[in-house]
Amino acid sequence: MDVIEKGKRIKMNINAASARAGRSADDVTVVAVTKYVTNERAQEAADAGFFHLGENRLEGLLEKKEVLTGQTVWHFIGSLQSRKVKDVINDIDYLHSLDRLSLAKEINKRADGEIKCFVQVNVSGEEQKHGISPENIIEFIDQLSKYDKIKVVGLMTMAPHTTDEKILRKCFKDLSKLKETIHTHGFLHAPCTELSMGMSNDYEIAIEEGATFVRIGSALVGE
Ligand SMILES: *Cc1c(COP(=O)(O)O)cnc(C)c1O
Repeated sequence: MDVIEKGKRIKMNINAASARAGRSADDVTVVAVTKYVTNERAQEAADAGFFHLGENRLEGLLEKKEVLTGQTVWHFIGSLQSRKVKDVINDIDYLHSLDRLSLAKEINKRADGEIKCFVQVNVSGEEQKHGISPENIIEFIDQLSKYDKIKVVGLMTMAPHTTDEKILRKCFKDLSKLKETIHTHGFLHAPCTELSMGMSNDYEIAIEEGATFVRIGSALVGE
């Protein structure tokens, strides 16, 4: 199946999941994760209407950004080393992996303007995962207010690697609740209206639980 066919199926699934949740599918943006694939394949995705593109390495992002044509919006979805911030921060539209104050500080120093960031949350508490723990999220977001170029548009999480729907759903629900808790604080620098959650295997569940950005790689562009 080519990207166009896969894309159509994904759109249908998104429509159905949104309808089940009483949501509009227009509120869900697909980030096509192109980290596994060639520039040509990424171009096919963009041409098929999936022009929000996600990469987890800065070399991959900068290379694709250089060669892709037409409308593109760039999402950095991987963990970002502080020393590499200066090489990529002004080339991206969204950062999905803000997970420490030292990174925020470096972004603030290097960014030309406001950067839309998702705070990455380690909802499942797995040790090997990046992200702020739910207990510390309010304090973390509060501390970000001193970095005037950081705008917290939402929260991001990576669900556990499992096919158990209950576990996945709970993870997404927990992230959604955290977003609501943050709202009660009314942080000006953190409107936090978005949820980046759900990947190839679990994006429909994520949408049912409120995802506004789903990050889809293998199911859309292949591995
Ligand atoms: C690779 C990756 C994805 C996409 O994974 P698929 O399972 O191929 O859809 C999504 N989010 C992040 C952070 C990733 O690194």
